[in-house]
Amino acid sequence: MSEIDLTKRRSHALLRGGPPNPENIPAGCAFHPRCPIAQDICRAEAPAFRPAGASRARCHFAGET
Ligand code: SF4
Repeated sequence: MSEIDLTKRRSHALLRGGPPNPENIPAGCAFHPRCPIAQDICRAEAPAFRPAGASRARCHFAGET
């Protein structure tokens, strides 16, 4: 059985908090309270689908990196 190496660096971000309350979804992008790159537009406007590589994502900045 293998062991988890806690000293290895992660290549993904760890998110704080939890999913929004379905009875009180945040304005704009519902993910903005937890998103590490949220901007003012994320708090004001829900994002539409945008191309993201071979797929699409509902993010104001999808496909920009
Ligand atoms: S629109 Fe994109 S950048 Fe903005 S909060 Fe949502 S996931 Fe994050």
